[in-house]
Amino acid sequence: MCSRSAGMANSTERPPRKPYAEQPWKCLLCGKKAARWSDDPLAFEIHGRTYAAEGFVHEHCDACGEDTVDAEQMDAVQRVVTDAARGDLGRLSSDEIHQLRHDLGLTQAELESQLGVGSGTVGRWERGTVLQGATADRLMRVLWAHPELLPELGYVAREGRGPYRTRRG
Ligand SMILES: [Zn+2]
Repeated sequence: MCSRSAGMANSTERPPRKPYAEQPWKCLLCGKKAARWSDDPLAFEIHGRTYAAEGFVHEHCDACGEDTVDAEQMDAVQRVVTDAARGDLGRLSSDEIHQLRHDLGLTQAELESQLGVGSGTVGRWERGTVLQGATADRLMRVLWAHPELLPELGYVAREGRGPYRTRRG
């Protein structure tokens, strides 16, 4: 999971994007009139490594250093950094998770149930906004290679669904 070092704001609480001509404006964090638009790379720390998301215009405060990303851009920013971390850490990509889930014939909720993770988690992995942990990553790899193990986790194939059902004939 990304550290949230770049401050995030709820879109419903944020005013419309300010004109460049009004820079600098008052920083919401420190209160100093030192906030401006910036397209400098945003730094995120994941498992002790720093990853940069480049090309995202965001608010930056020259006084306190706070970076604030618009809520509507946050998914895209998170996807960039988690994709980079996935590559570094050798984790399944978001596309691979989507593919293995389909290969196993599971809905997102069913895969969550098998892995013992919370509701909505698999959707966030597949959208690429959240990085799956090492344990879940390895378990998914095992299941992808050995779908016959699904019943060990309590999965009961439904009629006509999934390769496990097909394999049994
Ligand atoms: Zn500030």
